[in-house]
Amino acid sequence: MAGHPRTKAICARFPRASQVFCERYGEVFNPKAQDFRLQKQKPALILANKHDRRVLETPAGYGIGGERNYYFSHMLNCLYDCRYCFLQGMYRSAHYVLFVNYEDFYSEIDGILENANGEPCWFFSGYDCDSLALEPFTAFAEQFLPFFAPRPQARFELRTKSTQVRSLLSQEALPNAVVAFSFTPEEIHGTLEHKVPGIQRRIDSMLQLQHAGWSLGLRFDPLIYQPGYREHYRTLLTGIQPTGCHPAALCQPWHLSPSAQLFQEYPEAVPGRTAVCRIIRGERRHDLLPGGAGT
Ligand code: SF4
Repeated sequence: MAGHPRTKAICARFPRASQVFCERYGEVFNPKAQDFRLQKQKPALILANKHDRRVLETPAGYGIGGERNYYFSHMLNCLYDCRYCFLQGMYRSAHYVLFVNYEDFYSEIDGILENANGEPCWFFSGYDCDSLALEPFTAFAEQFLPFFAPRPQARFELRTKSTQVRSLLSQEALPNAVVAFSFTPEEIHGTLEHKVPGIQRRIDSMLQLQHAGWSLGLRFDPLIYQPGYREHYRTLLTGIQPTGCHPAALCQPWHLSPSAQLFQEYPEAVPGRTAVCRIIRGERRHDLLPGGAGT
């Protein structure tokens, strides 16, 4: 993959970077006894080829209403450093791995669509990384959205905590794509979500996308318990509510967070019959994720 055009384009952006070549990225990424926290301070970028298992069925319960759900990761690891993130327990290395062979992901997605008897298939990104955090050099959304555009049978969710939305704003909004933003209350964000853009900045990005016609999702994964959590989530949700996010952008059933069912236990947390309130009350029920997902 050293000669892949995407590899060359990325290397051209970092002309002073030291380059180390290896046969398989696992030689660097998988050895035991690596110090994740130390590497996280200054992670290297590994450009690699994803050989197999590119697009996988989601674990049971992961989805937003569809019957056929798949996830894929163009990257492993994340620019941000959420202390609750499952990635730091899953991988031995904190280096970023970017799989440059996007075209092989496209082929695998097409194969799944062909075998789905015309039924809609959901594809989730942002499982082992944040979908947009490194968009300026991965060009992930810039290149995957045009792939999904002529495939209405495919539904695509980009899950993110990033405000890197420029490449989306430069394209026509896709009716079969959802840009889903994850939130936790300020108290958790401030202490556990290191380097993640602030809540208001994410809301501002949502509004920009909404004005450009994009469908939005709100995700409250993970829900984190701490003393005063009701008040913290109430503040978060009532903060999002009056920002101008249109109810239609928030209330479509397939935009509900799987965790929304937890909030059904205390709908009084949010006053009034608002868009957000309807999400929290959950017009559909989903099981909680069996394991954590990125972003
Ligand atoms: S939870 Fe999401 S945004 Fe936070 S470090 Fe993990 S992948 Fe990145």
